[in-house]
Order: sequence, then structure tokens, then C-alpha cells
Amino acid sequence: MSEKPFLSTNSVTRRGFLATGLAAYSTATLGNVLAEPVSPDAIAAANLLPIDPGYVSSLYYDDKEKDALNDVLKEGSPFRFWGPGTPVKTKHFEEAFAQYMGVPYALAVTSGTAALDCAMAGLGVGPGDEVIVPAYSWWSDYTCVLCAGALPVFADIDETFNLDPRDFERKITPRTKAVLAVHLMGGPCDLDPILDIARKHNIAVLEDAAQAVGGSYKGKKLGTLGDVGIYSFQINKMISSGEGGAVVTSNPMIYERAVRYHDVGIFREIFEKRTGSVLSSSEGGQNFRLNEFTGGVLDAQLTKLDTMIQDQRRNAQAIAEGIQDLPGLHWRKQPDPDGDIGYAVSFAMKNKEARDRCIKELRKWNVPAATLIGSVLLPIQESVIKKQARHPNWPSFNSPEGKAIQYGPECCRQTLDVFDRFVLIRVGPKYTDAINQQIITAVREVYPKVA
Ligand SMILES: *Cc1c(COP(=O)(O)O)cnc(C)c1O
Repeated sequence: MSEKPFLSTNSVTRRGFLATGLAAYSTATLGNVLAEPVSPDAIAAANLLPIDPGYVSSLYYDDKEKDALNDVLKEGSPFRFWGPGTPVKTKHFEEAFAQYMGVPYALAVTSGTAALDCAMAGLGVGPGDEVIVPAYSWWSDYTCVLCAGALPVFADIDETFNLDPRDFERKITPRTKAVLAVHLMGGPCDLDPILDIARKHNIAVLEDAAQAVGGSYKGKKLGTLGDVGIYSFQINKMISSGEGGAVVTSNPMIYERAVRYHDVGIFREIFEKRTGSVLSSSEGGQNFRLNEFTGGVLDAQLTKLDTMIQDQRRNAQAIAEGIQDLPGLHWRKQPDPDGDIGYAVSFAMKNKEARDRCIKELRKWNVPAATLIGSVLLPIQESVIKKQARHPNWPSFNSPEGKAIQYGPECCRQTLDVFDRFVLIRVGPKYTDAINQQIITAVREVYPKVA
């Protein structure tokens, strides 16, 4: 199969842009200006629009969030379990979130990082276990394994920007307990092969959908296809209350252990009512309970999530359609284009130099072009290479396997290659047709010169 456009559905055309006459204007005027050398004055003279994707969550704040916060103040009950008034916000958010995702159980926690720790507790990951982590992902995907006392084993990403199923399979050992299927930059992992391989080897799948809240894979919401899923509501994510996170699962035992871990080992009645039974007992835990202010804002934000995704996808699709006929364009691989939340439009260049030039030239058009963003090339970080843990006897690196494992660039060559070649253009949900057109014109102008 040949190159696939960014999004498969075809509801948006370029007609709108052409109708404004802006396309012709852009090509005639802006196009000429880019002919090198480009002076800052020339760019100013080209009337380029500023382009800022913004933070999705706060672009949609309105009276709904304000009313939720005021309710909590009026009740005087910012703690989720009791107070002078009746706290209902966090509980309601959990129920609405579970329903939105299509799973029986959701747990609200203080961050995506906390959610990962709860998920590890839910799965019972501990010393002696190995957990497979994509070499490009957020710090928390590594630290949750360390915090559990288990050994992080890296697998490469592929051109989905997510876990390469083939390398996942290569990294499995008899000790592999879980795999982190992280859906980065709004796009789903190649989940079918990942789930197949995991089932074959009896490995738990933890989906990290922190960067793809509301995204889906073959009609099911991300985070609900594996054994347990997590989300983040930090400001860079889709819906936000500044900080916040959630765990979802269909497994009552995983839920109970995660709930207990988030609340110093306790399993309160409101959770017991959901699962209908008590299956576990205290294993200790943290305090990752979500307060009512945060729960109320998230409850308000959740009602807007579909609109946010729709708006963002519409712009991503318009931009993709405006450039898809460029000869040789090599897109990010999309295991399910319909499930992508439109966070970015991304394509490869032939090497790092071409990528860097492409980004530099696109920025002259105010295009928010970048390398892959929002995560870390984990195996090449100093603290990872040095296998630092909080105590010299920490179990992660004290097993024979932990002592033998070596991180560094050698363990993630393919990841570094993907990272070095791709250009990513951020998409904002509030981009106007004129902004989309400016991005299209810029790519049409820059790409053929740099490719
Ligand atoms: C943001 C993020 C997290 C952690 O979420 P926080 O709420 O910031 O703790 C985990 N995984 C991924 C992929 C993320 O992007």
C-alpha cells in the first residue's frame, strides 16, 4: 500500500479557502517572498499571520468551568469524600468519563504520572518483573516502572511514532509482565498486533493515552483496549484542569488495587458500590485523590471534548489535503486515521539536515514546525544510562538482568532514526481557514526545495 493521507474521511475540501481568494493571494505574494534570501522586512511585508496552536483546554474555558468552581466554593466542600456541603463533582466526573470511554470503571487522580503508578499497582508489577517501554515516550512511562521496583526494557518506535510491535516482540523475556502502549502526539498505536503479541505471551497491556484523550482505534476509545488505560489532564493535553489524571479498566481487581493505591490503601464504599464486591486488601499506597475544584473543571471540559477533537481534526485534515499531492510526501504511519485527534500533521524528510532546513524554512512562514515533541528519547538520558535509582539497593537494577542491561543509543537506533527524519506541524483547534492556507502554502513552497 502506498502513502496514506493524514486522515481518511473526506468531509473537508479546499473549496472554502479558494472561495476566500486567499489561496491565490498566498501563492502569488507569499510564495515569491520566500525566494531566498529572505529578509525580516520582506516577511513583515508579506502580511504573514501569526500562528499559535494554543492550549486546547483553555481555548474552550467558559461559564461551565466557572460555574463548577463556584459551586464548590458555595458548598464549601473541596474534598471529594465529605465536607460541610455535598461533594459530587469528582464522583460525577469519574462516572461521566467511564461512560464516555465505554468502560465500567474510571478513577480520577492527581496526574497522569499518578495514574501510571496506580496502573502499575493495579497490575501488580513489582521487583523481578520487566516492563517494555517505548524508547520515545514521557518520563513517567519510565519512572512508573522504576517506582514499582521493576526493570524498564526499551523497545523502538516505528513510523507511527509509537511502539513498534516487532521490536516489542523481540524484547519479550519470561520475566516480561507488562507493556506500555503509549499513544503519542494524538495518534493510536498499532494496537492489533500489539494486543495479539501480548495475549500470546500473557503480558498485560497498559495503554497510556495521555496525549490522545478522546482518540480511538477501530471504533474503541484509546485506553480501553488493553487491560488498563491512563490519561493526563495537564495543560498540554486535550482537556485540562492544569493537573489531573485518570485510570480506566474493565477489570474489577485492577480497579480495586488502583483505587487502593491512590488512597493510602483504602477501598471506600463509593468504589465498592461500583465493583459490587471487595476482592483485595490493603497493600498501602499514596494520596493521589482528586479535589472537587479539579473534578468540577474536568467534568465541564469533558462535555466539550468531542467538539475540541472535531475542530482540531478539521484543521489537520484541511492542511493534510492541501499538501497531499506533493510528489514523494511520506506521512507519519497511521494505524487508524479516523481515530487520530488531529494534534499535528507530520511527514518525513530524507535525513536530519533536510528535516532541520525544512523546520527552519517553515518557521519563516510562522508555521509551528518542530521535530517530534512532547516526549523524551529516554535511553539516551544521562540518569537512564547511569541506571540511577533512589537507593543503591533499589531492586530495578540489582537483579542479574538489571545489572546486565545497557541503555544508550545502541538500544534504540530505529527510534533515533525516526526522530531525526520527521517534521511535525502542530495543529490548533481554532485555526482559521486563512491560517490553514498559510501553512499549506508554506509547505508547498518549502518542501520541494528541501526534500
Ligand atoms: C503528560 C504525559 C504523562 C504524564 O502526565 P502528567 O499529568 O504530566 O503527570 C504520561 N505519559 C505521557 C505520554 C504524557 O504525555
